Amino acid sequence: MKLGTRQDKKKPVNKGSDKRTPVQAGKKNAKRSSSRISFKLRARNVERQLADLARDGYLQMFGSDTARLGRFTLNIELGLEPGRAGWKIFGQPLDTQLRTVLKQVEAKTGAFRHGRVYCYKCMSGDCDHSIPGDPTKVFAGYSSTGKPNWISFGQMLLDRGDHRVDELYAENPSLLTCLLSKDQLHREQLNAFGRQSLDYIVLSQVAAGYFLLPGKGGSREKAALTFQAVQTMGPKKTLMVDLNVIGQTNEHIPITDLLDQRFSRLQQRLVKTRDRLRNLKPSWTGRGNYRRTGPASETRGRVEFAEMVLSELARGIEQLSRQAARRTMHAERRAVKRPVSKALQEARAAGDEKLLWDKKQETIVVLGAKQRIHVFSPEARLVTTLVMESDGVERRRKKGRWITPEAERIETFRNSLGKKNKSQ
Ligand SMILES: [Zn+2]
Repeated sequence: MKLGTRQDKKKPVNKGSDKRTPVQAGKKNAKRSSSRISFKLRARNVERQLADLARDGYLQMFGSDTARLGRFTLNIELGLEPGRAGWKIFGQPLDTQLRTVLKQVEAKTGAFRHGRVYCYKCMSGDCDHSIPGDPTKVFAGYSSTGKPNWISFGQMLLDRGDHRVDELYAENPSLLTCLLSKDQLHREQLNAFGRQSLDYIVLSQVAAGYFLLPGKGGSREKAALTFQAVQTMGPKKTLMVDLNVIGQTNEHIPITDLLDQRFSRLQQRLVKTRDRLRNLKPSWTGRGNYRRTGPASETRGRVEFAEMVLSELARGIEQLSRQAARRTMHAERRAVKRPVSKALQEARAAGDEKLLWDKKQETIVVLGAKQRIHVFSPEARLVTTLVMESDGVERRRKKGRWITPEAERIETFRNSLGKKNKSQ
């Protein structure tokens, strides 16, 4: 159609359903052109809002950063049903559609998935192998066929001969960490199953546990986390390094969601760690003077850097744990880390004169060896183990807080203890 002719100018803008005469339409021309501008502005506004909504949705779903995203088109459908009282909207809600699109977009960004380890066997970060499957499990490296191996954090410490493993099973467990290198994690993996691939390389990893999370019925659920410095291929074939935090509760809630509320200082550390990893230049060749340059020395440099950053994170996590322990420590009593079985063993060995009843707490107190005090519920569930000076014990007896238990209490306690014998 030719533009700029007189005929064109007189043509009404609306076609089809417009039943008005040209004269009527002409009178409204001025009004319409201003409403046309505001229509355009309003449309721009909606576009802007839609873009912001998509971005916020992405950040909420995948966290912290959109750096790995390339350009994409948002295809959404909005069903409209005109009516006198206003146009009804039908079809799939916008948030549901946005979530679907954003998931697809994220899936195209490469092998990196927040909270998931890439599975080379299935060539996917979405299969069942890519998540721990149990809150206590951490990533232990790739199998020969590129399948992620998951083991409990306690098992990992045992396998590595870490003598601190006992501390995990104490009533007030320490938060421990375990560093693994790129070579340790990718060692078993065969070349045919991605060993030389640039899709998903764990440059360095730290596993940490156990975090005590609120569980069902006021219980505490043990959970471990895997922190990885991961190198993946981003958009336009650029290598990217990022922090991946992997772990979930039995209810399949990402542990990091719970950390938000409960471990704000750890969360701050993670933000810092992530920033440092992301700002690593792809061509960084490390602090060492490598004679040869090229991809091999660049990878070596990145591994070195990632190991440095993650070992600092590991130290930070253990420090947080110690600080928390210090805060809860009473001047007179010191929490000790002994396995539950040890407490049960001492309780079983204790004569009646070593058993006391705490009137205030309504608990059984067992005077163990080496100034250890085991506090049990009347049904022989271990509440805590402490070390207490003998004058602390005496003071409580004099005050009448700790008294000699009634015979029935002792009987109930010993019976419960006996039942525990069979199960432990
Ligand atoms: Zn798989």
